[in-house]
Amino acid sequence: MTRMSVPSWRRFLIAAVASISRCGSAALMAAGALLLTGCFSIPGHPDDPQDPECLKHAEFGAPEDSPYVLPYPVGSAYKVFQTYCGPVSHGKDGQMSIDFLMPLGAEVVASRAGIVRQVTDRFEDFGRRFNAIYVEHEDGTAAFYGHLKQGSSRVRVGDHVVAGQVIASSGASGTSLEHLHFGVASSWPPRRPDDVPVNFRNSQGALDERGGLRRGIEYRALAEGLE
Ligand SMILES: [Zn+2]
Repeated sequence: MTRMSVPSWRRFLIAAVASISRCGSAALMAAGALLLTGCFSIPGHPDDPQDPECLKHAEFGAPEDSPYVLPYPVGSAYKVFQTYCGPVSHGKDGQMSIDFLMPLGAEVVASRAGIVRQVTDRFEDFGRRFNAIYVEHEDGTAAFYGHLKQGSSRVRVGDHVVAGQVIASSGASGTSLEHLHFGVASSWPPRRPDDVPVNFRNSQGALDERGGLRRGIEYRALAEGLE
């Protein structure tokens, strides 16, 4: 049992109530969409400490060996406002997910080659439900790109995508703060809890001692690793 300070509990309860009220209808969506659930990505409490239970599973390899590139185009740089093992706004099922502060309409690219398995594209920014794209990779894992802009998808279910290919624009569907929620499920369709720790082979920016991305740090997407 993890011990939390009283202020942490208070923040947790506030966030939980906000999430439930915000995401009531989203909870009716497909089980797959619920895993890594974007609806918990309210602009919560990025200052909360990382969950020690989660950290036991947070093992990152060397970034240069990662099969993933940052989910935005080479040359652009965005700040992480919530990283893996954040205890509040991602819940237990999306704890390895990362939130990038990306403005409305910024290009989102495939982080890894694969086949598009699900596209949700119809929900408006700052509404109750979120748009998302799932891409299944050759090893059976599946990337989740969440809070995408309404109507911005450039791919369809069944399409093959390559790393670095533009797939949509970032938005604020299902959230009150424009950002991209990125996570990787260990299987498709996802089971819960199911997501895996990832870092990126073309990121420029300081990683933490585990090799994971750090909250509050801006990461630039380099061309190396994309050829
Ligand atoms: Zn998120």
